[in-house]
Amino acid sequence: MRVNMGDKIENKNINNLEIKKINRTNIYQLLRNNSGLAKQDIVNNLHLCLPTISQNINELQSEGLVEIAGSIGNTGGRRAKAYGIIKDARTAIGLDITKNHVAVVAIDLTGSIIECVRTRKKYERTDEYYQYIGNLVNTLIEKANLNREQILGVGIGIPGLVTQDHQTVFFGEILNFTNATCSEFSKYIPYKTALFNDANAASFAEIWASKEITNAFYIMLSNNIGGSIVINNQIYAGEHLRSGEVGHLKLVPNGKQCYCGQKGCVDSYCAATVLSSATDGNLESFFSLLKIGDKEASRLWDEYLDYLAITVNNLHMLFDCKVILGGYVGEYMGDYMEEFRERAKKLNSFVDNADYLMGCTYKTEAIAAGAALNFISDFVNSI
Ligand SMILES: [Zn+2]
Repeated sequence: MRVNMGDKIENKNINNLEIKKINRTNIYQLLRNNSGLAKQDIVNNLHLCLPTISQNINELQSEGLVEIAGSIGNTGGRRAKAYGIIKDARTAIGLDITKNHVAVVAIDLTGSIIECVRTRKKYERTDEYYQYIGNLVNTLIEKANLNREQILGVGIGIPGLVTQDHQTVFFGEILNFTNATCSEFSKYIPYKTALFNDANAASFAEIWASKEITNAFYIMLSNNIGGSIVINNQIYAGEHLRSGEVGHLKLVPNGKQCYCGQKGCVDSYCAATVLSSATDGNLESFFSLLKIGDKEASRLWDEYLDYLAITVNNLHMLFDCKVILGGYVGEYMGDYMEEFRERAKKLNSFVDNADYLMGCTYKTEAIAAGAALNFISDFVNSI
């Protein structure tokens, strides 16, 4: 009997602690999404009592996470203090490593990019290269004037498949860096670091930015094709951490050679290089030619969109969710989205539309931002 009562008391204590933590998280999240709320607004939104809110706000203020952001009220009446989060109370840094470029961004607790640097640098698995990215991170910190004590970590987005602990590349054909480790990338980066697959990092950023999306397939149309499956706001990694590799779905039997060793993969028909190879590797030039009606550019684009329409339709048939078009080509899709929807809808077996197609929110630096956001997300969830 006594044991049972004791158990009950212990459970009650745990529950109280849990409730306290949930209240605190909810108050912080509400302020993170709506800056400038009075205590009464928080009462109305969360249906908590005023003393609970006051106590939590005091705590969050003393921890340097929340501040008075102004005041609200009618003239003549007593003005109420408005509270908001201190956006740069913590920051995170993200890197995007590609074959010929490195981008680095700093983001705040709202996910906004504070500072960004993109440079041309060929990837090499050498000490000189890792020193270079270490210097680049340092330059960014100085440029953005970040408080080093408040940097949560540095996420490194790479074009490869990464082990569950985010420490090792287990498939890295694109940069020929299979078995590369996080510790070699971060030899000159004195912060907590983690490796992220590029497409998964970018989809994480897109889901973070679009609160109404819970399920989506993110297709990354960059110099290689990547993909990421998001179910209930979580990335579905797959049993061997190789999920979402839409780039290696077979599109054309015995078709063009793919870097993976197979033939006819989506990557060989829908990568950005299929277009940019017509303009010396410059995708912007390709779209400029397309805009002025260049014949060869139009022919290439027409063929490209047909293959892409088959690909996205297959994804939609399989997952029945939004398909987000990201990556280098995703940046330019805005002007062509309606035309592309027309093509995709003709392939739809069930309804006469392709409303599942979405453009991307982060036009550039989705990978770097997403890699950094993993640290922000962990921190915000721990509050
Ligand atoms: Zn392939």
